[in-house]
Amino acid sequence: MSDQAKVNLLGFTHTELKNFFAEIGEKPFRANQLFTWIHQRGCMDFRSMTVFSEQLRDKLDSIAVLKPPSVEEVIKSPDGTLKYLIKLDSGSFVEMVRIPEAKRVTLCISSQAGCALQCSFCATGAQGLERNLTSAEIIGQLWLANFHNQALSRISNIVFMGMGEPLQNTHNVIKAIEVFLDQNAYGLSKRKITLSTSGIVPEIIKLSEKTDVSLAISLHAPNNKLRDELVPINKKYPLEQLLPALKCYLKDQSARANITVEYVMLDGINDSLEYAKQLGKLLANLKCKINLIPFNPFDGNPHKRSSDHAIQQFKDYLIAKKYITTVRTTRGDAVDGACGQLSGHLLNAIKGKASKISVLEI
Ligand code: SAH
Ligand code: SF4
Repeated sequence: MSDQAKVNLLGFTHTELKNFFAEIGEKPFRANQLFTWIHQRGCMDFRSMTVFSEQLRDKLDSIAVLKPPSVEEVIKSPDGTLKYLIKLDSGSFVEMVRIPEAKRVTLCISSQAGCALQCSFCATGAQGLERNLTSAEIIGQLWLANFHNQALSRISNIVFMGMGEPLQNTHNVIKAIEVFLDQNAYGLSKRKITLSTSGIVPEIIKLSEKTDVSLAISLHAPNNKLRDELVPINKKYPLEQLLPALKCYLKDQSARANITVEYVMLDGINDSLEYAKQLGKLLANLKCKINLIPFNPFDGNPHKRSSDHAIQQFKDYLIAKKYITTVRTTRGDAVDGACGQLSGHLLNAIKGKASKISVLEI
């Protein structure tokens, strides 16, 4: 059997692996062993899995593969952020970003190659959608970040804030989340996984039935008129549908659960005090934190980042209204790894910038 025709077990949840082993006439506990070898020991080679008999190793080798996407390049920003350019089997590229901080290491991962939603300020949106990532390609990003360079510390937090709209690839994203949470795999806590969405209402409701990871909502505007322009999916799922869906997401969650409202700060577009007031009113009945994101400019986009004064004024107003409001620190700027700068065709662009940054040995 050619490798292409073999099933890629990297994308399987624990339950799926159990079923797989049952189908090939093996005991269910084998699933647990394989799961741990892949996700905790970082082993991708059946032949090295000494926990299995020679015979089982041969059998697995003949029908299955363990295949993460490949790392094309790793670029280090002066602030320690690492941007990985990841090559998919189909030849497309996606990006993930590793952000080390004092007490945690966050990995920003992609769920799609490109995105169909065309938010007016986003580089990924400008590129259009190529395709959804498979569960193996999503899980493979965390696997790579943990095991590609064993000298780096393990990832503690995941944010679905790379390329793509996770709730347009919900099935594979939920499978990946299941593996990230699984104690026999990465064992991350649900509060350390954040899914960011532009607001696909029926999928938010579906998600609330399946998992309860932290949710971030890319709001960016406090009324439908402006949001229709900035986040066009709002025309399909306007605020009067979105806010009840967010409340529904919170309903079944533990008391500690919270939603983060993301609001990109665009100079002269959505950053006036008047908009801060509208936002304060709109969110009055939603338990949430607000994260203001200074716009990250990119070539060919007309928007400008709001002034520090406008951001401060917006923030002060919301704090006075008792909202926990933070301003996102922009990380990875020098390598276009900051939010919304991920655009997938960057290989050459990255090389062009290599004088400013250091390209790591892989
Ligand atoms: N599709 C999802 C997740 C990926 S985008 C979503 O839209 O939520 C992750 C975050 O980056 C979103 O809040 C998005 O609005 C924001 N973003 C996109 N482009 C940006 C830019 N140029 N500057 C700052 N933030 C941006
Ligand atoms: Fe897609 Fe999110 Fe970018 Fe909008 S902001 S185009 S939903 S990736």
